[in-house]
Amino acid sequence: MTAVDSARRIWTDCILVGGEQGSVPLRDAAIVTAEGRIQWLGPAAQLPTALGQGAARHSLGGRWLTPGFIDCHTHLLFGGQRAAEHAMRARGASYEDIAARGGGILSTVRATRAASDAQLLRAARVRLRALQAEGVTGVEIKSGYGLSLPAEERLLRLARQLGADSGLDIHATFLGAHAVPPEYAGRADAYIDDLIREWLPHLAAAGLIDSVDVYCESLAFDVAQSLRLLRAATALGLPVRMHAEQRSNIGASQLAASCGALSCDHLEYTQAADIEALARAGTVAVLLPVAWHVLRDTQRPPVDALRTAGVPLAVATDCNPGTAPGESLLLALHLAVRDFGLRSDELLASVTWHAARALGWQARRGNLAVGAQADFAVWNIDSLDELGYWVGHNPCAGTVVRGQPDARLAQEINA
Ligand SMILES: [Zn+2]
Repeated sequence: MTAVDSARRIWTDCILVGGEQGSVPLRDAAIVTAEGRIQWLGPAAQLPTALGQGAARHSLGGRWLTPGFIDCHTHLLFGGQRAAEHAMRARGASYEDIAARGGGILSTVRATRAASDAQLLRAARVRLRALQAEGVTGVEIKSGYGLSLPAEERLLRLARQLGADSGLDIHATFLGAHAVPPEYAGRADAYIDDLIREWLPHLAAAGLIDSVDVYCESLAFDVAQSLRLLRAATALGLPVRMHAEQRSNIGASQLAASCGALSCDHLEYTQAADIEALARAGTVAVLLPVAWHVLRDTQRPPVDALRTAGVPLAVATDCNPGTAPGESLLLALHLAVRDFGLRSDELLASVTWHAARALGWQARRGNLAVGAQADFAVWNIDSLDELGYWVGHNPCAGTVVRGQPDARLAQEINA
């Protein structure tokens, strides 16, 4: 794991924006980090002299500095790829057609079970590096391509290992209820029973679960099954989240809100009463525009109504081999503007402040405040609009993780 940087560093000549500061940039700013945390921030002219003594100074050359981005919804630990499905979809096959022909999630379950730990880690590290190159310092990783107890445990352990060797913060989500595994075909209730009775307590006791997710959808788990699972998770003290209303509305987000879910993700078919419930519960709406784009969806999530109701909006990659094959959070932001109408002032919060809240991380991450973890992204931009503008161009100059610049940033600023 990246060691906590004990040196006191002063980052100067930068434009700070994000977190509690909102979307109003603070120009000619300075930020002081020590022991992996933010010690002071404000106008450089007000920097207390005592803080400057003995500190390493780094000029950021007028660049923008935001909280490190957080990708709060990924399935990036998987074996194989599903490029053939992309071609089938282009010829008109639906999600349901592909699943019925042996593709879909269960084909990735076969490939993931067959892959070695080393193969899974190698592929996942490439994805994590690509995310970090775009300013990401915290990532949620779901299990859900193992779908047996040992295979799910393996994925959750590998997620922990990725956090330890990348130095990035990893939130591991148990998504055993991703699909009914072949061993339980036609017996979804029995599968949920086993998840509740055996898998959840075992994996939770091993300290491998940070939250529990369920794919509540007509082609996956119904509301009654999802409720049983989320109640069991809550009883174990585990936060919950839900894949809801991507393809239809069977009451998923109202159920998630009733369970106090941290996030509800997708939400294309979410309706007015659902939005009220999400707002009351303080649940974050996680938008996944890459999946929407790849699936050639036409039903847009009700962003205006979510915004009006005060539901916090997050955006994530949904990195997965079927419906969001890639790891570009900047592409997700571009599509969130183009297809979902997110405003520029909403973009930054969607991948920092609100994304942190979706993972229960808001006390320490996704923020620029004294005491927050010193995780930053540094940008070669002139305005926040650029975060949702470029396609295939990456304006990120590098990241700072727990007070330490990554190699790219260190080179840029001669740290
Ligand atoms: Zn997903």
